[in-house]
Amino acid sequence: MNYNYLNFFCYCSTNSISQIQFVEDKQEFSRFPTKAGRRSLSRSISQSSTDSYSSAASYTDSSDDETSPRDKTQLNSKGTSDFCVKNIKQAEFGRREIEIAEQDMSALISLRKRAQGEKPLAGAKIVGCTHITAQTAVLIETLVALGAQCRWTACNIYSTQNEVAAALSEIGVAVFAWKGESEDDFWWCIDKCVNMEGWQPNMILDDGGDLTHWVYKKYPNVFKKIRGIVEESVTGVHRLYQLSKAGKLCVPAMNVNDSVTKQKFDNLYCCRESILDGLKRTTDVMFGGKQVVVCGYGEVGKGCTAALKAMGSIVYVTEIDPICALQIGFRLGFFSGLLGNKNVVTRDQLDRMKNGSIVCNMGHSNTEIDVASLRTPELTWERVRSQVDHVIWPDGKRVILLAEGRLLNLSCSTVPTFVLSITATTQALALIELYNAPEGRYKQDVYLLPKKMDEYVASLHLPTFDAHLTELSDEQAKYLGLNKNGPFKPNYYRYNHPSKIPLNDTQISDLCTIYLQWIPTATTYMFSLVQSS
Ligand code: NAD
Repeated sequence: MNYNYLNFFCYCSTNSISQIQFVEDKQEFSRFPTKAGRRSLSRSISQSSTDSYSSAASYTDSSDDETSPRDKTQLNSKGTSDFCVKNIKQAEFGRREIEIAEQDMSALISLRKRAQGEKPLAGAKIVGCTHITAQTAVLIETLVALGAQCRWTACNIYSTQNEVAAALSEIGVAVFAWKGESEDDFWWCIDKCVNMEGWQPNMILDDGGDLTHWVYKKYPNVFKKIRGIVEESVTGVHRLYQLSKAGKLCVPAMNVNDSVTKQKFDNLYCCRESILDGLKRTTDVMFGGKQVVVCGYGEVGKGCTAALKAMGSIVYVTEIDPICALQIGFRLGFFSGLLGNKNVVTRDQLDRMKNGSIVCNMGHSNTEIDVASLRTPELTWERVRSQVDHVIWPDGKRVILLAEGRLLNLSCSTVPTFVLSITATTQALALIELYNAPEGRYKQDVYLLPKKMDEYVASLHLPTFDAHLTELSDEQAKYLGLNKNGPFKPNYYRYNHPSKIPLNDTQISDLCTIYLQWIPTATTYMFSLVQSS
């Protein structure tokens, strides 16, 4: 591939997962706190970016306070201090954000209303590590309404909405998170959630596997009480399967990522709807006519590609999987240029990019783009805006790196609430199922959410579209061998994406040409059938 033509790189694949050695802690987990203390660690990780770090405030955070939340003592209005957030005084503002999110999460609210009398999570002590956004707050408050006690931390150092973290702390949820944590803060916050005198979790809700990993490393005894792990992301799920394969998974785990409703909506639509927002807020770039490389054509890659194409970008896609590569041809009418590197966006590729190229990541980890390789003396880093660094080569070439190579949309913009409602409802049901399952139903393995529950999540969201399901007659149900109330599909059924990806003019004209060519052939064929019968 000729890198001179490209303006923008977006990484959407999961390949770096294969490099992560869960057990040996080779990559992702070599960043634990050192005795040298948190400031020395954060400087060693990100010397130049931390120098100008103060600009990286929450996009909704107008506070100029640069004191680390760890150095502050804060109390909520009930006098409790079991939390660590940027500024508890933002709670009221956060409450309004949560109320706005609730409006588009009616399915989760309806689950809350239906189950709060029953309290299916009474006695559950859930420790959570997810993005802390208004949508997550609706989930957490639902879990609390269903009887759970929750302690929560962020799975990403940039994605926390500070005001939302404050609102949750105000109502008594122990939240340890703020936007712009150092890596040391990140692990400190996880530790504060798990390591609490007189409180031991019995459920884990994780997004990316870092919390699970921390418990494995530091507090393995906690697993004696854990009834199950619910994991949201592709990355975390891979780690769980690795653990299970090595015979080291000691509790049942639910793979929420591969629930049909989560995967077909969250991964695809969340990214399709938010990638442009993240890019626009950070760069103000016009994407019409830009040359873009999307690495990985899974659900996230499909969503990003569709959005960028719709904006008029010329998109090249790289894939390692021939089936996904074939889908590129089918769905969008163009074919991918293959990157030729099977791991990450490397320093070599970054060296070959043209001046002004924008590089960002939509994958979960921070390992997809080899950002560490850019921290060499000959390259200068310049923080130009919150979440925007210019990396400058000796000849003056600049590459624009967004969110230091971390998840773009959640770091730099917001994501569509309705889509997250589907994920949050799935997570809530998975927690209820694992917490209440009779002994023996789940072993020390990774499970998918039962299909019937997946269908339930979807049915809770149908009223939003004023959609009503057709009911099978007894006769039809018997004929199909189905229970009238579901599940309606076998586990191996692959649901197709609704074909909402917009076609551009060329694609429409191509389809018209094919259609017009097809009509005479089909007509002749049909006539021949009639004549022969
Ligand atoms: P997926 O498994 O469906 O897709 C990943 C694709 O990348 C696969 O098709 C794989 O073949 C391809 N791939 C792997 N290595 C590659 C390489 N070196 N070059 C080119 N292609 C390669 O996963 P997904 O659902 O698309 O998720 C991808 C990532 O995005 C995960 O890390 C996931 O956690 C994250 N995610 C982000 C968001 C968000 O809002 N930003 C939402 C959901 C998931």
